[in-house]
Amino acid sequence: MTVVAGVDLGGTAVNYTLMDQQDRFLIEGLCEHPSLSKQGPEICLQQIADGLKIAADRAGVAMVEIVAVGLDTPGPASAAGKLSAKGSTNFVHANWAGFDIRDGLARKLGKPVCYLNDGNAAALWGHFAIFGANSQETSISIIIGTGNGGGIILEGNVVKGKNGFGGELGHVLIPYQSIAGTSGIHPVCNCGRLGDLESLCSLTAIEKNILPYLLPKYVGHELGKVDVNKAAKLVRGMADQGDPLSREVFRVQAHALGLFYDEMVNTFDPDALIVGGGAIEASPAFQNWFIEEIRAGMPSQREEQAGIPIHIIPNGDTAGARGAAIEASKMAKESGLF
Ligand SMILES: [Zn+2]
Repeated sequence: MTVVAGVDLGGTAVNYTLMDQQDRFLIEGLCEHPSLSKQGPEICLQQIADGLKIAADRAGVAMVEIVAVGLDTPGPASAAGKLSAKGSTNFVHANWAGFDIRDGLARKLGKPVCYLNDGNAAALWGHFAIFGANSQETSISIIIGTGNGGGIILEGNVVKGKNGFGGELGHVLIPYQSIAGTSGIHPVCNCGRLGDLESLCSLTAIEKNILPYLLPKYVGHELGKVDVNKAAKLVRGMADQGDPLSREVFRVQAHALGLFYDEMVNTFDPDALIVGGGAIEASPAFQNWFIEEIRAGMPSQREEQAGIPIHIIPNGDTAGARGAAIEASKMAKESGLF
């Protein structure tokens, strides 16, 4: 047996999966190991290797049977997996600055390693879940979490871009002034831009921009009585229960996403639009309502494009590891290892 591995390195945990030559995942759900990324490259890479052995044992796979590994991490990093010289929130240790994490893991494991950023990896899994392996389709994925990540799969391949910023969709500007019921809102993103997708479609956006704008319109609402950081985290559950203010928060997010998807439809004429992330990990009824609101927020389309499907990414918590494994599988097939 030969398999490939997917390794999703996050700030607190590493999640693993294994995938065989028939494109089957050998691990259901999460297979986590503490990440130790705060302790710098040497300790973190050893920890990743130790965790991979545990994952392989769990799946009944010998380490020699793993022919290639896909790694994904939060950015910023180059398309080839060299972390930013300026560091980042997830790689604060000084030794991470400018570190080639793809090459470092390849040396540690003695196996070929390919790299994706976490948004692109999740997008690749979402695409695979809909279209299967070897697809030639095009899809646009948005992952709504603390921030807003995503990815573009163009005719089956991840668009990484020259500098690794391909698919940084959260910072694309949208004509937010056309969202009904938000007159006078001033949505500033952490990146400094006014009115990009993340400034209206992320947990941070709820806390910094949407709740502060809407709460004064709902005098006496219970979310106005708690800290806004805590309130932002309560909104999804309350929206799922039908609370009008919380629904309005999600309607604004959905309409922002609709405007963004419209830009993508006119740029790529894709086969599918995909949405995932913590924001929509809610009841199926809520998910369906959210998708219909995204559609309602899209300006009218050409007849051919009006019915474009909008999908939800399944198994969201395993998306990064699965996407990384899919990329590793492609690499293994192209280089004759599979
Ligand atoms: Zn931004």
